[in-house]
Amino acid sequence: MRAACYLASWVLPVAGAPLRDAGVLVGPDGRIVAVGPRAQLPAGEAIDRVDLGAAILLPGLVNVHAHAELAAFRGLLEDLPFPRWITTLRRCKQEAAATPAELRAAALLTCAESLAVGITTFGATEDSDAAAAALRETGMRGVIFREVFGPDPQQASAALQELVQHLDALQSEAGELVQVGVSPHAPYTVSDELYGLVARLAERRQLPVAVHAAEAEAEASLVVRGEGPFAAGLRARGLATPPRARSIVALLERTGILALRPLVIHAVRVGAEDRGLLAAAGASVAHCPTANARLGHGVAPVVELRAAGVNVALGTDSVASNNRLDLLEEARTAQLLQRARLASASALPACELLEMVTLAGARALGLADRIGSLEPGKDADLCAVAIDRPHTEPAHDPLATLFHAARGSDVVLTVVRGRVLYRAGRLLTIDPADTRATLHALAARLAAARGTSR
Ligand SMILES: [Zn+2]
Repeated sequence: MRAACYLASWVLPVAGAPLRDAGVLVGPDGRIVAVGPRAQLPAGEAIDRVDLGAAILLPGLVNVHAHAELAAFRGLLEDLPFPRWITTLRRCKQEAAATPAELRAAALLTCAESLAVGITTFGATEDSDAAAAALRETGMRGVIFREVFGPDPQQASAALQELVQHLDALQSEAGELVQVGVSPHAPYTVSDELYGLVARLAERRQLPVAVHAAEAEAEASLVVRGEGPFAAGLRARGLATPPRARSIVALLERTGILALRPLVIHAVRVGAEDRGLLAAAGASVAHCPTANARLGHGVAPVVELRAAGVNVALGTDSVASNNRLDLLEEARTAQLLQRARLASASALPACELLEMVTLAGARALGLADRIGSLEPGKDADLCAVAIDRPHTEPAHDPLATLFHAARGSDVVLTVVRGRVLYRAGRLLTIDPADTRATLHALAARLAAARGTSR
């Protein structure tokens, strides 16, 4: 790889104030050498100059929560109450029985969609190995949180054994850019025993942990009172549903998960005590405002979480609930919902949104020493957003332009560790056309499975 100097009308280093007419020099090893005003950056025959013109250049976006293998679910599960949404999703998944080629297609299309909107890294909670392979194939960066399910305490050790086998298989896909972690799915699919076993495994193997938690009302009813639709479903399977903890965060604390500084996905229902526990544990939150709104869960108290000292990053969740993977739009939605909730004109300002989609995301995935800001020595994960379009002009304030005028479709460049993966509408490592027919075959079986419940 040759050294390259990317120049743009604005550079947002995140580590410092926005720079006008500036650039980023990337060494042949894919690391950042220098960030600064155009005039101060070295030139020469050994350096490729890439002048992006009227554009905002910033760190590659970090989407801390996605489900790459669910790409074929987009639009399939509209308007269902959450307990039915999740049981229908799981039943359709089971009945459609995706082939490895179909899971690969779904994961590759998720990567394609992500790269085209400037996402360079994602945290993916997955029930297969497809996403790890897709990240490697496309050259993206990510952490794969291998999911484990099991509400029956009697089957906790069998579920753990299966998880260990999956983790061992995934190790062959892991490497410089792809890491492997674990995700005990959610309180309504995981027993306290299984949480405890996974916590001990994660500690022993030093694995990052992600958990869906404090998302739904039905989940809180189950954990706190042993009641509600999830409790009824478990009792129908012969499982007891005693109250388990005074809150979902308290359940994570009691089972040993919270001590592992997990990525807590959703955290919509977290009171002051929960927020204090999350902060004291050094946990991060994956805030998914669009998915939370579309499923009727409400609005997470992001401003209060941040005030308590919790690292809050942004996730799209899957296209089964969102149905887009546009992190710039997600950030705008996050701000709008906080401002509507608090009747505030200043909550979650754009400088905080910028941190949430970059450095806070890197922190949440344990990657802040390598990515998340433009600083010499860090890996050159970059994206650039064109701002010479009718809907982005004029750019009085680059942050307002980025989050409130531009869209993911204005991204013109995506780079991971110095390697260009997307440029001016073209994906350079994959051709989505190769996988589309495979995805449609899976989508047709999912639709048939969905149809039987209508
Ligand atoms: Zn999720």
